[in-house]
Amino acid sequence: MKKAILGVVITLFISCNNNETENVTPENTNAEQADIANSKAALCGSDILRQKRLAEDPAAMQRMLQIENQTNNFIEQKKMGKVLADGSVEIPVIFNVLYSNATSNVSDARINSQIDVLNKAFASSHADVSSIPAEFKPVNAGDTKIKFRLAGINRKSTTKANWAPDDKMKSTSTGGMNATDPSKYLNIWVVNYMPYSTGYVLGYATFPEDAGLWNDGVVMMDEYVGAGGPIATHNKGRVTVHEVGHYLNLRHICGNDFVNDTPQQVTLHRGVPTYPKYETCGGVSRSVMFMNYMDYSDETTLFMFTKQQNDRMQAAISASGPRAGLRIL
Ligand SMILES: [Zn+2]
Repeated sequence: MKKAILGVVITLFISCNNNETENVTPENTNAEQADIANSKAALCGSDILRQKRLAEDPAAMQRMLQIENQTNNFIEQKKMGKVLADGSVEIPVIFNVLYSNATSNVSDARINSQIDVLNKAFASSHADVSSIPAEFKPVNAGDTKIKFRLAGINRKSTTKANWAPDDKMKSTSTGGMNATDPSKYLNIWVVNYMPYSTGYVLGYATFPEDAGLWNDGVVMMDEYVGAGGPIATHNKGRVTVHEVGHYLNLRHICGNDFVNDTPQQVTLHRGVPTYPKYETCGGVSRSVMFMNYMDYSDETTLFMFTKQQNDRMQAAISASGPRAGLRIL
């Protein structure tokens, strides 16, 4: 069955025995139902009674048309992969690559590997899941049913290699590239280098309060995009997972992250801490979850979200959430 909408008039194709199609409107619906009624061979009264009801009550006819409109929208979205048959939400991702040399022009293969890393991280389906300590396994998010699909790669050559984390890369008016509709797509900009203060930042993200604004999305330094980059401690694509966590309303695991199943910890970690690592907060010593994506450990050591982190992300992409546009129009 194919359906299309023209303004408020719904045209829907009815498949017949010979697979011919016909536009259906309130008017020809009446005629068709009259034919059925006159045949004296109708086995089911639903359509006949419905037709009587729709003829008598224009408001009911209007509701029927609205339902068909909503149904059609849903099916169109499903075709685009935004809502999958199993209820998953598949976020369409646009990469905007601003390159100043060959290495910063991140390859299609690395970008595709980033999508793969995101999908495995959010499904908890990568090999490192077996390294989650037994004490944290019960709170592992498992399959969040948040998926990612590459929707496009835009590339632009530039002489600018250094970009401050100040959103200039997100607008053509400041030498960058405009976002593709950020209410419907996760935009990820890739730049060569992002100096900040006395060092640099690997990436940064906007939070859901900026959903749909011109600057909404994630920015990454090229080295940290996808698997197989040049920095041995950070070449598994998991910095991007961390940034997408922010984009879906997760906070750093240190301090108050509004999540109860991440143990309180006093600092963000670097390198590869040895498990178990205890930290005392409020007079209580706890084994901390330095392997959480929202910590700062080396990427070999970042491999889990928790169930309550997933609750927050689900809230962000729910039909009533700030990022609902990623799932359905
Ligand atoms: Zn962060």
